Amino acid sequence: MQVLNNSQNLDSFFNSLADQTSGVLLLDYDGTLAPFQLERDAAVPYSGVRERLVKLIESPRTRVIIISGRWTRDLVPLIGLEQLPEIWGCHGAERMGTDGSYEIASLPEEVVEGLVNAEDWARAEGLEKYCERKPISVAFHWRGLPDNVSGDIATKVRGRFVNAPMTPSLVLKEFDGGLELKYADITKARAVSNILEEVSPETPIAYLGDDLTDEDAFRALDGHGLRVLVRPKLRDTAADVWLQPPGELLEFLDRWLDAT
Ligand SMILES: [Mg+2]
Repeated sequence: MQVLNNSQNLDSFFNSLADQTSGVLLLDYDGTLAPFQLERDAAVPYSGVRERLVKLIESPRTRVIIISGRWTRDLVPLIGLEQLPEIWGCHGAERMGTDGSYEIASLPEEVVEGLVNAEDWARAEGLEKYCERKPISVAFHWRGLPDNVSGDIATKVRGRFVNAPMTPSLVLKEFDGGLELKYADITKARAVSNILEEVSPETPIAYLGDDLTDEDAFRALDGHGLRVLVRPKLRDTAADVWLQPPGELLEFLDRWLDAT
């Protein structure tokens, strides 16, 4: 564990969590709760995470929210819990409540059209096996591929969508293991801002994430909560604290459980 921002004190965070009636725990999934796998559909949580999630979800003093770039349809089976937390999928375009409610953001016409065209382009370029279509985006994955192959995919994708953008509403974003062409208005920062509006200012709130899309969330949480970078290697980040999974992640969750 390394404190990156000296104005954030972990002890005082957990003390205030113990003092308040409730806290909000925002969690990314891939790379944060679950290690990356070559097979994306095999990315289950680190050993010990599910048990702790069960306790956190059951606790009336914690509101757990998973905020992921994945489609909830694909994420729910991987989480593998009977009682699910609230889940915001597709970077927050989808919102699945613990009461079975489900909402999804509507997309402007040019975004829908752009995504269909991007999929057609990927097929024509022979890239469909690397391409994942989601409600608000098309992702290109290259985890585990040789450097020359991933470099070739990246060049093609950047060449098509950076140099000749389809619409300003679709942006190309880097993530750990690929590039994603997505609806610009939907970001994890927007998800965090929406959640902050529902939470009283004194409620302790923390966000745990590993990827570049989580940096958007970290910035949105600036001054409102604890930002925790979870990854084996430190990188440039807006986070307050860096944890190495799984050991330090499990310790953090245990501290949360102790405090609540
Ligand atoms: Mg992640």
